[in-house]
Order: sequence, then structure tokens, then C-alpha cells
Amino acid sequence: MVTIKESLCDNNPWCGAAKACLSGAMKYNYKIGKVIVDEQRCLGCFACVAACPKGAITPS
Ligand code: SF4
Repeated sequence: MVTIKESLCDNNPWCGAAKACLSGAMKYNYKIGKVIVDEQRCLGCFACVAACPKGAITPS
């Protein structure tokens, strides 16, 4: 699982970390205007951690 640090995340609809996510666990939610992670789908691969240009995602 990963944690998104709200103070660093710019909640971009074209989030590079969401694009890098292998399982579709991380995605931009248009209803709430935020990037979110589905705990049930997360593989713990940390591809998103490396892909985030803001350093907003940390392993948890
Ligand atoms: S750790 Fe892997 S599966 Fe989990 S949200 Fe990040 S990229 Fe997706």
C-alpha cells in the first residue's frame, strides 16, 4: 500500500503516477477532484512512488 501526501500532491487529472500504476489502483477521481488509491487493488509494487514527479507518494 502507498500513502499520498496531500501537501505535496497537485491532484493532476493526468497524474503520471496513476499512469504508472500496474493494477489501476491509483487513479484520478473526477467526482472529488483528487488522485486516490484503492487499497484492495494495490499490489505494493511502488511503481507510483518512482513515477510521481512531486515525491508525494510514500510506501506505507
Ligand atoms: S504500489 Fe503499485 S499497485 Fe499500488 S498504487 Fe502504486 S503503482 Fe499501483
